[in-house]
Amino acid sequence: MTIFFSGQDYKYELEGICKLFFPLKRFSHCYDKILLPNDEDYIITRLKKHSKTTLLWVRIKVGIIIKSAHTIVKNDNTDYLNECERVLSTLLYSVLSEVTAIKPSWGILTGVRPVSILQKQRANGKTDEEITSFFKEKYLVSDDKLDLSFMTANTQSKLLEDTIKNSYSLYISIPFCVSRCSYCSFVSHAIDRPNATDKIDEYIDLLCIEIKETANLARGLKLTLDTIYIGGGTPTALSAENLQRITDAITQNFDVPSAREYTIEAGRADTITREKLEVIKNSGAKRISVNPQTFNDAVLQEIGRKHTAKQAEDCYLLAKEMGIDCINMDFIAGLPTDTFESFKHTIDKAIELAPTNITLHTLSIKRSADLFTADGIEEYAKSNITAKMTEYAQKRLIKAGYLPYYLYRQKNTIGNLENVGYAMPGYESLYNVYIMDEMQTILACGAGGVTKLVGNGEKPIERIFNFKYHFEYITRFDEILDRKARVNIFYDKGL
Ligand code: SF4
Repeated sequence: MTIFFSGQDYKYELEGICKLFFPLKRFSHCYDKILLPNDEDYIITRLKKHSKTTLLWVRIKVGIIIKSAHTIVKNDNTDYLNECERVLSTLLYSVLSEVTAIKPSWGILTGVRPVSILQKQRANGKTDEEITSFFKEKYLVSDDKLDLSFMTANTQSKLLEDTIKNSYSLYISIPFCVSRCSYCSFVSHAIDRPNATDKIDEYIDLLCIEIKETANLARGLKLTLDTIYIGGGTPTALSAENLQRITDAITQNFDVPSAREYTIEAGRADTITREKLEVIKNSGAKRISVNPQTFNDAVLQEIGRKHTAKQAEDCYLLAKEMGIDCINMDFIAGLPTDTFESFKHTIDKAIELAPTNITLHTLSIKRSADLFTADGIEEYAKSNITAKMTEYAQKRLIKAGYLPYYLYRQKNTIGNLENVGYAMPGYESLYNVYIMDEMQTILACGAGGVTKLVGNGEKPIERIFNFKYHFEYITRFDEILDRKARVNIFYDKGL
C-alpha cells in the first residue's frame, strides 16, 4: 500500500496511525507528485497552506471503497506545525475507522506512557475535566481507556509519594530459560543448549563479582537500597544450587532486611520446584511471579510453553502453602488460537485463585508476525477480540477488588493496546512503578541489565548498558566493571 505525503512529511506519525488499522501491511512512501497506482490501495495525506488558513486533506482507497475528508487549520496557531500534524492524524484516523470499521481505543495517542502524560498535566495545574477533554477531543481516546488511566494514576501517585530520597533499586538479570516461547522478546537462552550449559557456572561467578562491586559502589555513594528484583529470562531456570549462589551473593553484600521489597521472578511452571521455592523463601524475597499466560492447554502448546495450566496452578498453590503470600500471575490477551470464551475462563480462574497481583499483557505484533499469517492478523485485528479481552479483564478484575497501578504501551501491540499491572491494595510492586516512571536509580547486574541513573530531576537520565548476551558478558567482563565507574562520575558531579 502506498502512502502519499503531499506538502508535509509527517511520516512517522501518519504511518503509525495507518499501522493501527493495517498491522502487518508493508507501506511504500511517496513524496512526489501524486500519481495514483492502478487498482492498488493507497492513502493520500495532504497539507496545503494558503495565506490565512491551511487545508488538510485525506483520501483512502481500500479495495472498492474510496473515502476522503478535509478540514481547515488557522495559520496563526501558536503551535502551528504540531497542530497540523495532530489534526491530520485525527482526520486520517477517522477516515480509516470508517473504511475498516476498526476503532482503536487509544485514538491517535501513540506515546507509550499515557499515565505519565496525565500526571504531568496534573502537576501543571490542569483539572481532571481539562485533562479528560484533552485526551478525548484532541487524541480521540475512549472513555474506557481514560478511566483506566485515571485509576492507574490515582493508585500510583500514592506510591510515588513514598519514594525515598537518594534510594535505588537493584536489578539482577538471569538471561536463561528452559526453552523459548514463540512470542518471547527477552534476552534468554535455552539453558540446555551447549553454549549456555557450559557457561552457566562462569556466568554466575562473574555475576557474583558484579553484585559485590555494585554493592561497594552504592555504599561509597551512600545510596539507600529500596527494592531488589531478580528477573530475566527466568531465574528459576537455574538449578536450586545456582539460584542459591546468587541470593547468597546478594545477602552477603547488601542489607537485604532494610529493602522495602524483594522480588524473584519464578515465571514458568516447568522451572518451579519446592527446592527452588525454599531458596527463594530463605533469601528473604517476599514476592514471586508464577506466570500461566493462559489457562488453556491448547493455547499453551501453540505458543511453545512446555507445561500445562494445571502445573501452573499447582506451582501457585505450592508457593502459597509454603508461605509465599505475594504472588503475581502474568496473562496475555491476543494469543494465537485463544478465543474470547477461553480468555474469559482464564481471567475467571485467575480471580478464583486470588493471587495478590495479576498482570495483563497484550501480544505484540512483532511477535505475532511469527504466529499469525498477514491476512490472519488483519482479520484478528478487525474482530477486535483483543480489545474485548482486555475490556473484560479490566471490568472483572476491578470488580474483584484489584486496582490498576502501572500501565504502559509497547509499540505494535494488537489493537495498539496496553499492558497493565493490577494488584490488591497494598500489594503493588514498587519496582514496577519506579521502572516505568523513571523515578529512581536502578543499578543493574548481569547480561542484558541496564543501569539507569536518575538524579534530582534537573538533568537527563543516564543509562549504562551491560552486554546483552551471556557469552559477551563473560568474555568482556572487565569492560562491564569499567562502565560501572560512570555511576560514581554521575553522582560525584552532584547532578
Ligand atoms: S518463559 Fe519468559 S523468558 Fe522464558 S522463553 Fe518464555 S517468554 Fe521468554
